[in-house]
Amino acid sequence: MLDIQRLPAFDDNYLWLLREPSSGAVAVVDPGDAEVVLAALSPLGGRLDWILNTHHHPDHVGGNLALKQATGCRIAGPAKDAARFPSIDRGVVEGDTLALGASSARVIETPGHTRGHISWWFEAEHALFCGDTLFSLGCGRLFEGDADTMWRSLSKLMALPDATRVYCAHEYTLANARFALAVDPDHAPLRARFAEVKALRARGAPTVPSTLGEEKACNPFLRAGDPALAARLGLAGASAAAVFGELRRRKDGFR
Ligand code: ZN
Ligand code: FE
Repeated sequence: MLDIQRLPAFDDNYLWLLREPSSGAVAVVDPGDAEVVLAALSPLGGRLDWILNTHHHPDHVGGNLALKQATGCRIAGPAKDAARFPSIDRGVVEGDTLALGASSARVIETPGHTRGHISWWFEAEHALFCGDTLFSLGCGRLFEGDADTMWRSLSKLMALPDATRVYCAHEYTLANARFALAVDPDHAPLRARFAEVKALRARGAPTVPSTLGEEKACNPFLRAGDPALAARLGLAGASAAAVFGELRRRKDGFR
């Protein structure tokens, strides 16, 4: 079991606070803002065992050092990118596990948004913390990887169980939905998800987490292997990675 708390920060970030109840162990995923985390920790007695980082961008690591100083927590992040994580305590690679009390996270390397990006998968809890790799109805921009690299990363996430909840790092869903509908307007599951997302946002409710099953059904970036979507983009017969790359290019220029 894992208690998972959503901590909104900045304009549209979600930091995720995890507490394993049998041990009281606490972790936070991608604490861009230390103050937000400290405020949430105080009713829990101030304990913080681990920072679990997905990648080095400031909105994900900005609170690392202040939190370490305030709580004595340890910092875990990608070994391949350790040089960009000041004061990192544990560098992890694909397949490594990290214990949080009785729970355990497995590391999945998901490069593309950045070259060191990793995702943290709590298999028993059906919880995936994927940073800026996969968003609801979207995916991260390719700052340090090409389309093939990102498609391979997304394909690894798609192989997880459909019931997996996708705890991504940003509330981008509504804007993502507008692009998704522009490229895939007749896809019924997407239209249904759009209606749901609009209603949630209209009352200020979060759209995250979704499930991996929902994303596989609705998210155009995960549907790059669907021949109907390829044909709609004028790419009939192209590889899924090529279709994915075209979708990403179009999204980059979408207003
Ligand atoms: Zn990022
Ligand atoms: Fe981010």
